[in-house]
Amino acid sequence: MHVDLTTTFPRRFVPAGADAGDWAQIEPLFRRLLDQVPDSPAALERWLEDVSELKAALGEERTRRYVAMTCQTDDPDRERAYLDFVEQIIPKLKPMAHALDEAYLHSPHRRMLPARYALFDRLAANRVALFRPENVSLETEETKLKQQYQKITGAMTVQFRGKEHTLQQMVPYLEEPDRATRQEAWELVVRRRLDDRDRLEALFEQVLALRARIAQNAGCADYREFAFRELERFDYTPGDCLRFHEAVETAVVPLVRRLQAGRRTNLSLATLRPWDLDVDPKGRPPLRPFQTVDDLVAGVEEIFRRVDPELGQQFRFMRDRDLLDLESRKGKAPGGYQSTMHERRVPFIFMNAVGVDGDLRTLLHEGGHAFHMLAARHDPLIDYRETPMEFSEVASMAMELLAAPHLGVFYPNPDEARRAQREALERVALLFPWVATIDAFQHWLYTHQGHSREERRAAWVRTFARFAPDVDFGGYEDVLDALWHRQLHLFIVPFYYIEYGIAEMGALQVWRRSRVDHAAAVRQYREALALGGTRPLRDLFRAAGAEFDLTVRTMGPLMRALEEALAGIED
Ligand SMILES: [Zn+2]
Repeated sequence: MHVDLTTTFPRRFVPAGADAGDWAQIEPLFRRLLDQVPDSPAALERWLEDVSELKAALGEERTRRYVAMTCQTDDPDRERAYLDFVEQIIPKLKPMAHALDEAYLHSPHRRMLPARYALFDRLAANRVALFRPENVSLETEETKLKQQYQKITGAMTVQFRGKEHTLQQMVPYLEEPDRATRQEAWELVVRRRLDDRDRLEALFEQVLALRARIAQNAGCADYREFAFRELERFDYTPGDCLRFHEAVETAVVPLVRRLQAGRRTNLSLATLRPWDLDVDPKGRPPLRPFQTVDDLVAGVEEIFRRVDPELGQQFRFMRDRDLLDLESRKGKAPGGYQSTMHERRVPFIFMNAVGVDGDLRTLLHEGGHAFHMLAARHDPLIDYRETPMEFSEVASMAMELLAAPHLGVFYPNPDEARRAQREALERVALLFPWVATIDAFQHWLYTHQGHSREERRAAWVRTFARFAPDVDFGGYEDVLDALWHRQLHLFIVPFYYIEYGIAEMGALQVWRRSRVDHAAAVRQYREALALGGTRPLRDLFRAAGAEFDLTVRTMGPLMRALEEALAGIED
């Protein structure tokens, strides 16, 4: 289970000096792989490793350019470099990658490969079945539209107290005890978003139309069917998602309503308004865990060390190798992500830290992804160094929960530490209704082809109401109507959202175990991470000590455990 950070993965097939951003140098390598037919199962294995190496070189080039662009979205050179890759390289690469998958599927030695290749085989067969040459240019178009979304939202700023603020920089004001300040900050942000409402609606309609064509080209009844196959959801169905929505409605929404009722009482309010959700319910000043990004990095490293000393070392390695870009700056894309430098097999973490408690959670979360990547770096196949997203989010979300008892690193005052811990757990409960809302809305969006803007609005409001906590949007109906615009997944990674809910169910099971036996829970967690993508989803869950079940049968007891734990943390 030990991860060797000193191992390097020199090129064996791709020439050492080859530039993966130059198609003239890459194309001959694809040709060579296509011409050289493996003549034995062993040769086929070696060939697959060469394919993997080439894909990793291209993957790293793409990540490098993406990272550079998102770190500075207002630098036209970086944007050009990324777009060049998206427009020039990817459309040429996709048919080649498809040809390699086909060559693999036609190999007479495929059936003689060791059992380890069974999942790879399923992935390759699915990719080939779904591939349509006519979709390549549509997907390029889609990528450019997605980039538009990032550009529109990345450019959003507001003037507050005489200073220009990014929307991320406005987040801390929602935690201010002074209600008028919170309302003012909230209104500025939502009004700024509404300024681009029509642009975003129009952009979304372009995206929807493209996705419908992509699905149709692939012979799917609708884009939902396409997305389930494209996202490699082999182990669950749309029906399972609907049962997840029911489980949230039955087991989570009542708990969230009880939590919100407590918040309302503590704040002495008749109704909760949207700007009352992030403030401390007892009127204490917001938690400010760190001043500088250096403090954040040092503290989080210590937390990881307390969860498991080796994880602390891995995080230090990332810091030393310049694999972190954490502070919020104007021009930086919003949000946080972990991305992989596929060739070096190292992770990179991007986020917009401004000094709030949520920044800790983000970094702990992305850290979990990074450990996952490192744990599986030994595997020669790029497909096996990646994990189904439903499980990769277990890595990150379980890390947030495993770290919660150690938040005292940032909060020397035990009351503050308990408060942060309580918030971390409450957020888990609050996550499920939003995940169910976004997922149920997507099921509607893609099974109601040709719907009007008004029908979409009504469907959104209906879906929102089904899972809504008791929050009064009175007077802000226009804001509520367009609330989904801020959920970038709808624009950028369609259907990718329920993964967070599925994974949180897994993470909670790891957490529940850790409360009984911390060492064993961490050990199992790390063992499951080291499996990368070499096992099906259900087996990965089992390896981590969790059951893959999206129904109320599992959700009910988890919510009871969560409520019990919350009752035990008096802050
Ligand atoms: Zn994540």
